[in-house]
Amino acid sequence: MTLDDTPLPTPEVGFDVDTEPYWRGAGEGRLVLPRCDECGTYVWIPRPYCPLDLSPTRWVEVSGRGSVYSHSTVHRGERLYAKRAPFVLAYVELDEGPRIMTNIVGCPPDAVTIGMPVRVVFDAVEETMGIAIPRFTPA
Ligand SMILES: [Zn+2]
Repeated sequence: MTLDDTPLPTPEVGFDVDTEPYWRGAGEGRLVLPRCDECGTYVWIPRPYCPLDLSPTRWVEVSGRGSVYSHSTVHRGERLYAKRAPFVLAYVELDEGPRIMTNIVGCPPDAVTIGMPVRVVFDAVEETMGIAIPRFTPA
């Protein structure tokens, strides 16, 4: 479901094997992140091995809940985003710890505040079966 008309760039799935499970999980309506099998650390950005102990990571589903850690309103977008500005680019700190870059959708840009509780939504990329982009909306 798309909450607004924020553009949907097509992820380069298959180009980068380290991120494919992220896009495929989103396509199934699940937010997944790699977690270390040994120490339990979530490894973001995705890597096949934990940077702390070099143990393998495995993709696991997380809650999809978090809060806005940082945000910026883009007033002059380029390319796909040229006609969409203003829109919000943000870091969301997930309840599980990692901070991921995303858009905040479904509310006016000036309503976004640091610490605001958010939940994930998945915007399907129509031209690519099974792929979606995780974004966040006020919880
Ligand atoms: Zn580890």
